[in-house]
This record gives sequence, structure tokens and C-alpha cells, in this order.
Amino acid sequence: MSLKNLNKISKLILDSQNILIVSHYDPDGDAIGSSMGLYYSLKKIGKNCYIYNRDKFPEYLNFLEAEKLINTKSDIPNNIELVLFLDLNDFERAGEEIEKYIDGYQGHIAVIDHHQSPKIESQFMLIDVNASATAILIYKIIVALGIEIDNKIATCLMTGIITDTSSFKNSNVNTDSFLIASKLLNDNADLKLINSNIYNDRSIYRLNLEKRIFSTILFDDNSRVAICYCTLNDYKETKTSKEDSEGIANFLLNHKEVEVGIFIREIEKNSWKASLRSNGFVDLSKIANTFGGGGHKNASGLKYQGSIEKLRNDLIDKILNEK
Ligand code: 5GP
Ligand code: MN
Repeated sequence: MSLKNLNKISKLILDSQNILIVSHYDPDGDAIGSSMGLYYSLKKIGKNCYIYNRDKFPEYLNFLEAEKLINTKSDIPNNIELVLFLDLNDFERAGEEIEKYIDGYQGHIAVIDHHQSPKIESQFMLIDVNASATAILIYKIIVALGIEIDNKIATCLMTGIITDTSSFKNSNVNTDSFLIASKLLNDNADLKLINSNIYNDRSIYRLNLEKRIFSTILFDDNSRVAICYCTLNDYKETKTSKEDSEGIANFLLNHKEVEVGIFIREIEKNSWKASLRSNGFVDLSKIANTFGGGGHKNASGLKYQGSIEKLRNDLIDKILNEK
């Protein structure tokens, strides 16, 4: 991570009064934890701060208590001087509305992120692909700004680290993940609250959904890919939503024969979203890129139009070629 870029963004924040924080749609614990942690911090130094996300918070993250969450472009105040993009590096990941907003926007743009292959051009970029969560970078910015981290901020940032590392189990974990997590604990991050909301808040409906998803598991011996999927009808009939299928791709990786875990969900007829996870054998961001998606080496995602059978075959072929 470049210290120069960190200082440039910190100064830009100090020089701006009206700030919009934007994170990726289908927000996860890192997108929301980073946004809320930064929001509470900037409020402490008197900034007018707003958070935009195309989507509502998933229920399991409501404990972070969204304030001033904006879901539509028309609610964005017209005096914004700085837009901070968190946990994304491509305007497309924020949704169409923000792409349009940025077209007519005259102020500054900064990106704070840990994904590969940035597609946004700005002189204010803090990108560190070695950071295990965007929350780690937000922590460094808050410290650079001299803002005292209270328990609320600490809980938000810890949520980002815990969810993006799957509780320090993923291969993106490094010394910084533990170092900063320990500092956040010292600042009274509420681990009990985080764990009870992230891991113990599942409904029995989810089990019914999982039963269906696991019945589709296909394990390909050659590529060592395990792949499973879920249709819109499965969600409907089990009274569940996409939140109830969070973590399925990671779960597949818990089995020693599996090198790549893939979970695919239907978004609309013939349109699919795939989540790819690995333990480091294949660069999954490369695989996702070939489908127009992206992400990290060990966790990536993509969208696809076509049949589920073709998508499964294409994924397995491409992963075999990459090995
Ligand atoms: P997930 O599978 O949890 O949705 O995403 C895993 C990783 O891949 C995340 O870091 C996410 O930002 C990235 N990702 C997921 N879907 C897409 C996509 O459609 N496009 C791009 N560029 N990245 C994605
Ligand atoms: Mn992240």
C-alpha cells in the first residue's frame, strides 16, 4: 500500500465537507462494515456524510444500524464534493444509477479497495490487493485522520475483516489482518454481536434451501471443481432469499478433494450469478475476467446469460486450462 496515496486521500477527505460513500451492490460485510465505519468516523469530525448502495442492507447486517442509507440517485444531495468508492474498483459494480450519476458529476472521486485490475481512473486511489478486507484500509485512513476509534466504529470494521476472511480462515489472511483485528478488539469491537448475527442467525428455511442446493452438487474429478446451483423457484418454494445461500461456495471448499468451490444462483430466467472460491490453486480473478466478472485470486464472481449446463461446462473447462 502506498503511504503517499493514503496521505493524499486523507487530505482530500479533510478538505471536503459533503461526502458520499458508495460500495458495491449485493453488499457484503466488508462493503457495509467499511462504509459504516468510515461514516461514523467522518461524522465525528463534523463532515456531512451519506451512504449510497443500490441495494438494502441484507438482514444479517442490520445490526450495523444503517443511518442515512440512500438507495436512489434522486436522494443524493446536490452539493457532494467527494465520492468515496469502497470495496469496488469499477463503477459498474456500484450499479447503473451511479454510473449515470458519475457521468454528470464534477467533484472529486477516490477509490479505497483491495480488488485486482482497477477500471476506475483517478489520482486518488488506495488499492492494496494484499489487504484481506477493505476495512483494513479504512482503519489506516481513520488512523491517518487522527480520529479516535470508538466501539461502534471498531465493530463495523471488525465485521468487514471477519466476513472477508471467513473468520481468519481464507488464504488472504496475513499479519495485518490479526494486527488490526487485535487493535479493534482493544477498541471494544463487539465480537459476540458480530458472530451471533453473522453465523448464528440462520433460519430453518435455509436448511430446506440447502437440501435442494446440495442435491445439485457435481464434483469433477479432473479439475477438482465442486459446483452447485439454485433456481429462483427454489428460493420461492422454500421461502428464502439470496441471503440464505451466502457462504455455499466456501462451504464446498471444506472438503479435502475440492480445490475450487462454485455456487451459482439464478438472477432471472437464463441469467446466473456465480461465486467462485479456491484455496490458491487457480487464479479465479482470471477465470471471472474471461466472463466479464472479477474479484480476487481466491474469490471471484461473474454474471452469465445462457443455460446452467453450459455455464458449468465452460467454468470447468476454463479452470482445467488454467491449472
Ligand atoms: P461474491 O461471490 O461473494 O459475490 O464475490 C466474490 C468476489 O468477487 C468479491 O470480491 C466481488 O467483489 C467479486 N465479484 C463478484 N461478482 C462480480 C462481478 O459480477 N463483477 C466483478 N468485477 N467482480 C465481482
Ligand atoms: Mn472486500
